[in-house]
Amino acid sequence: MAIIVQKYGGSSVATVERIKLIAERIVARRRAGFDLVVVVSAMGDTTNRLLATAREVVAEPPRRELDMLLSVGERTTTALLSMAISALGEDAISFTGSQCGILTTDSHARARIMEVRPFRVQDELERGRIVIVAGFQGTSYRREITTLGRGGSDLTAVALAAALGADACEIYTDVDGVLTADPRVVPSATKIEALSYDEMDAMARGGAKVLHRDAVAWARRANVALYSRSTFVPDSEGTLVRMNPPPRPTPVVAIAGRKDLIVVTSTTDSARVGAVETLLAEAPTAARFELGGAVQWVLSREDLHEAESLSAAIADAGATWSSPVGSVSVIGSGLGEDRDVYRRVLGAFRARGSSVRGTVLTGTVWTAFVAPADVDELVLELHRELIEG
Ligand code: ADP
Ligand code: ASP
Ligand code: MG
Repeated sequence: MAIIVQKYGGSSVATVERIKLIAERIVARRRAGFDLVVVVSAMGDTTNRLLATAREVVAEPPRRELDMLLSVGERTTTALLSMAISALGEDAISFTGSQCGILTTDSHARARIMEVRPFRVQDELERGRIVIVAGFQGTSYRREITTLGRGGSDLTAVALAAALGADACEIYTDVDGVLTADPRVVPSATKIEALSYDEMDAMARGGAKVLHRDAVAWARRANVALYSRSTFVPDSEGTLVRMNPPPRPTPVVAIAGRKDLIVVTSTTDSARVGAVETLLAEAPTAARFELGGAVQWVLSREDLHEAESLSAAIADAGATWSSPVGSVSVIGSGLGEDRDVYRRVLGAFRARGSSVRGTVLTGTVWTAFVAPADVDELVLELHRELIEG
């Protein structure tokens, strides 16, 4: 039987009613003749609430204890969903990431998956059971519980799909696939039927959190057919992320924005750069630039759980720590090669000279760094000019 891995995000499992609704969908799919592995997130805003509670106890909770705490969120959902499926007459079993053989590094709160040994999952599929898996977590070689960084359940799903040789990996969320921009910022954004792994990777890095960047990278490496679909629009195909999607009429495929970046800046003095590198060894670093006598590291604030002590250590090392920085990214294949598009994007950025602090063009993405307060407005304007126009 074909294996399908599905993943349901936090909003899709936010209430008992939604869990029951999903259980019905899963049972129907099972009865249509598929082996199903279902990865789930924590219910609604559980992860944020657990984090806030930890920070009430201590300003910078130790990451090991955070992992013990946060991993409980997804575990709760697995047990409830398994019960809901069993109540509908199908056999289901819930597993933690560790029970599924998801082996990770021991970098707490942002562990990387090293290997997936899904023997128990395979055994249970052979017994005819639907396997429900807690996303976002694994176990290190020291047998410690680890988590994969915010939004990491998407990665659990893709890594399992690859290890099981699944036919497809379907990521269900609250939007009908990947759109040309975040619909919360650009209400006129439209669905993209198909896009390449490169384009999706650039979107995810730029802030389109509909698919997690690490999940996209894993899908590309393992050649997993990755769908983004809505839990609430049952008959829609959503978006397929694949190799070589059909060509589309406009070269710019999407606009993305984010507001949570920190930039660390040092002189190029090798001792100082070395000291900063050591401090940032475990930090979620998105990019590193060396330009005009300075070295800069761009960090993602969301997965940084010790920002205060780290910023103090960076200052002690003689480097600077910025206040939050935003970015706006224009994504599309051949941005640099198509002179007309090149001129239009450059013109669009130049027209906002006062808010744009600098731009970087690499491959399929052109990113401008701006103040966080300007991000939404710029995303809207660039979408209007480069996609709607
Ligand atoms: P889940 O909890 O299901 O993992 P996320 O909140 O991580 O869901 O991702 C879904 C959200 O991503 C949507 O609600 C939407 O606001 C946001 N988003 C940002 N950019 C895009 C985009 N280009 N297309 C679709 N959704 C996007
Ligand atoms: N629950 C985790 C988070 O909120 C992981 C996930 O939803 O993918 O980040
Ligand atoms: Mg997500």
